[in-house]
Formats: sequence, C-alpha cells, structure tokens
Amino acid sequence: MRFLLFIVLAISAIWAGDYKLKYWKAGESFGEYLTKHKIDSTKFYSQIAPDDVKFLSSIMSKSPFFENSENGKLKEALIPIGEQMQIYISKMGDDYKFDIIPLKYKVVKDRVTIKIENNCFIDIKKATNNPHIATYLKRVFKDKLNFKKLRKGDIVSIEYEQKSIEGLPWDEPKIEAAYIKRGDSEYFAIKEGEGYKIYSNKESSETKVVTSSTSAKYQAFRYPLRKIRITSKFTYKRWHPILHRYRPHLGIDFGAKRGEPIYAISSGKVIYSGWMRGYGKVIKIDHGNGVVSLYAHQSKLLAKVGQRVKTHQIIGKIGTTGRSTGPHLHLGVYKRGRPVNPANYLNHIVKINDGVTIKKSVKIVHNLRKELPFRAKIVYNSLKKENSNSYRWKNLDSTVKIVIQKREDKHARVKLRTTKGDA
Ligand SMILES: [Zn+2]
Repeated sequence: MRFLLFIVLAISAIWAGDYKLKYWKAGESFGEYLTKHKIDSTKFYSQIAPDDVKFLSSIMSKSPFFENSENGKLKEALIPIGEQMQIYISKMGDDYKFDIIPLKYKVVKDRVTIKIENNCFIDIKKATNNPHIATYLKRVFKDKLNFKKLRKGDIVSIEYEQKSIEGLPWDEPKIEAAYIKRGDSEYFAIKEGEGYKIYSNKESSETKVVTSSTSAKYQAFRYPLRKIRITSKFTYKRWHPILHRYRPHLGIDFGAKRGEPIYAISSGKVIYSGWMRGYGKVIKIDHGNGVVSLYAHQSKLLAKVGQRVKTHQIIGKIGTTGRSTGPHLHLGVYKRGRPVNPANYLNHIVKINDGVTIKKSVKIVHNLRKELPFRAKIVYNSLKKENSNSYRWKNLDSTVKIVIQKREDKHARVKLRTTKGDA
C-alpha cells in the first residue's frame, strides 16, 4: 500500500512540472484565450480586481508564456506581463483562479562547445536544450558565415545567457561570444554595443573584417497634459491596500479635470481609437521603432485610426471611462510590446533607433588571437583549455573562475582558476 502511494505521488509530481512553452497568438485578446480553453469569461472576470483588468491588455503578441494541461484541459498558465510580474491562472475544481504574481526566473549562464554531427541546428538544440540559440547564433554571424555550409566535425562554441521559467527558456537568449571553426577557418563573434564584431582568420573575400557603425535616431517626447500632477507612478510592485498584495501599475496616472485636453507625447500614427476593457476610451499612437503610447479613461476621443499626429497635438479629453475612480489620464508607454516607464521618455529626447549601417573594412586577419580584444581573448584562450574528449563545457561560473588583475602599468592579467563544483 505504501509502495502504491509512492508511485501516485511520483506521477503527480511529474505532472505538476509539466509546463509547455507557447507563444501568444498575435492580436488574440485575453477573452478569446479563455473561450479557446472553454473557460466562462463572465465568471472569470467577476473575480478579478478592477485594477487588474487593465493588465490583461498588456499581454504582448507573440510573447512566450507557459501552459500546463492535463488531458487537453488547461490546468495552469503563467503569462508574463512586463519584466517582473505574471498572470497566474490555475484550475480549482470546476473553476479557475486568477492572480498576478512576481515573475520568478533564473538566469542561466552557459558555455557550450559542439562538434557538428550532422546538422548544426539540431546539434545546437540538443546540446543547449534550447530551441532558439541556433537561430540567434545565425543572426550574429549574418551574411559573414553560411550556416548551411557547416559540416560534420566543424566546431561551434557559444557563451550565452538565458532567462528560464520552470526550466524552460523565456525571453531571447543573450549571446555574449561565439566561436566557429569551419575546416581551417576560424570565426569569432564578440558583443559590441547593440551588434557583434566578427573576426576571422580566413584569407578570402568573405573573411574580411566587417565592422558595424551606428547612426542613432532621436525623438523628443513631451508631457501629455498642460498641468502635471502625478497621482500614481510606474511600478512593477505596487502595494494594494485592500487586496493586501503587490500589484503592478504599468503606466503613470495624471490627475486632471474632466474635459482637459490630452496631447500626443510625440509625433506618430494613431493605431487604436476606441473602447478597451478596463481602460475605457483609449487612443494608442505608434511613434515608430517599436515605441507605442497609450492614453486611457478619456471622455472624448479626438483622433482616428490611421491619422498622423504631431507632438503636443490634442488627441482627446480627460474623463473617467473604464475602470477608474475619478477623472485622470493613465499613460502607458510600450517598447516592442513591453510596458516601460513613461518617465524615461517624458520631457526627454530619447534615442529610439540605432540605425545600424554596415561599414566594410578590407583588413584581413592572419593571427586571430592577436586581433581579438581583451575580453574576447579570455574566451578564446579558455577555448584551448577544453577537454578534447568532451565537447561539453563546464559552466564558467561554478567551475572556472576568471581573475582579472588590473595593475598600475595598465597591463591586465588573466588567471583561469578551477574551483570545486558540479560539472
Ligand atoms: Zn493607471
């Protein structure tokens, strides 16, 4: 009997962690998501605090989230909103519970070296247990290296960082450095600003050192009201006095009188003008380069979808429509679908685009190691430390310590020290 119980517990423990990574369907509303899972939305919305309804429209299109299903029925779902909080849906009997909880993710730093067996995409996925690394790696090398030409025996080494939730990758992997050996050719990519600098030792036209320079674009942002009175700041964790829980407030609230004009914070194109659950009468303006502003609770909308607006142009009037306790403006700013603090934009000239332009230099590198910058050399040199039997590297943080000593004469010394830890 005890033995049987043990088996049941073991199986349910496996189920409990059975999350699957999904991507939010572009344009899908939260209500549509509930319907898809045969969840009664009216009943569901009735248990959500008025303030929380707004976050349901903060879910980003195509963004990753996690589902735990049993026999095709949704058991649990974790849907990140912003960078620190997430919606948590869980099945309780026949009903579903709703909550907003802090996002718990781990940052995994890893270095993996792979000897290509047959297909680099499959091999990289297998070695990293991450379906996105190869795609990002291909992007790092862009046109400088044809991934299709990688053959059996070629070597790929990657140093990267990945956020993970429930053991599954979340958000984009950050590739810090990468090394590829294709036949006699060696390629090295190291992160530099927003892009990568590629080094190679191969003496052919495609191995010329390619450097990218940036020409940034700037845009001015102004306040949305004539008189500024902030009643609620942007925060991921706002203590809710009634619910006794932390709740995010992914925008800034400005106190104002009903009917006061609302101004566009910058020039752009109106992409939404109408009613939105929780937000009432809303206007959304696309400022280009992934920046979108949102103006909620208006009494009157004065701009139409498709209309181009100038900075400080009147787009509507203050009201208290939607879930609101009094006349005010809720201003949200989104960067690539992710809520960001509007305070970083208002009354500032903001760099909104790095506008990468590629400049080609004709320098050919013979001694790759000599040409590498200091940090890249650390990675490159430690590549040689690799055990030739095993191509899987040990985690740099737990087993190898890099000690950098800066001396008076500015010659930095690097020490690689192995410490005890799990391999
Ligand atoms: Zn607000």
